[in-house]
Amino acid sequence: MELNICHLYPDILNLYGDRGNIITMKRRLEDRGIKVNIEECSIGQPLDISRYDIFFIGGGQDFEQEVLLRDLASGKGRGICSAVEDEKVFLAICGGYQMLGQYYKTWDGSQLDFIGAIDIHTIGAKERMIGNYMFRTAPESSGAVVVGFENHSGKTYLGDRVAPLGTVLKGYGNNGEDQTEGARYKNVFATYSHGSLLPKNPVLCDFILQTALVRKYGDAEPLAPLDDTLENNAHDYMEQRLQKG
Ligand code: GLN
Repeated sequence: MELNICHLYPDILNLYGDRGNIITMKRRLEDRGIKVNIEECSIGQPLDISRYDIFFIGGGQDFEQEVLLRDLASGKGRGICSAVEDEKVFLAICGGYQMLGQYYKTWDGSQLDFIGAIDIHTIGAKERMIGNYMFRTAPESSGAVVVGFENHSGKTYLGDRVAPLGTVLKGYGNNGEDQTEGARYKNVFATYSHGSLLPKNPVLCDFILQTALVRKYGDAEPLAPLDDTLENNAHDYMEQRLQKG
């Protein structure tokens, strides 16, 4: 078996080590004898969506998101939308999550029209939502408790066709108002969680990888368990700290 991963805009959207998500996916697949190819696609480079099973988009500040608008409008945005509809797997973090939505109205009044691959929109608030946080993913997105770090001024609101990735246990999540965190649409997993996310959330990582294998190969065998002592220690330490705080 083999999975092909596309890292979109790695040189522009990469806050708080979001690239660690790619390293983790690669490592957890290779440890099970599954071959992984990783390619990068940034501004000015054509995107052939048929080559990939998983797309990763990291976070970025308002400025970086604005820089990408022209490149997205030149055809990449349409490609991303059709990959989403084709049930390819996406993992999108923070600025990358917002970018999959309809638009982002920044707190200082500019409107960034994004690609509308998922039915969400984001409104900037002057006060930033910052800190370690945790949420419980919905059963259809593994049911795991996820720990992470959020830092955003955008408040994201989900449209009718999009489910939250999970429910906030501590912190702000999508908007600090409705307890929702992230978004799940088809095989898109989107979240505000930097950290990076996957190294200390192995259950969610394997769920995403399994989703990609099932999409590609039909009935894929469950992934063999790995020794996750270190990963679980990191996860549980943060979960306990947040519970106390
Ligand atoms: N620019 C966005 C915001 O502040 C995203 C920030 C991020 O990716 N951390 O809302």
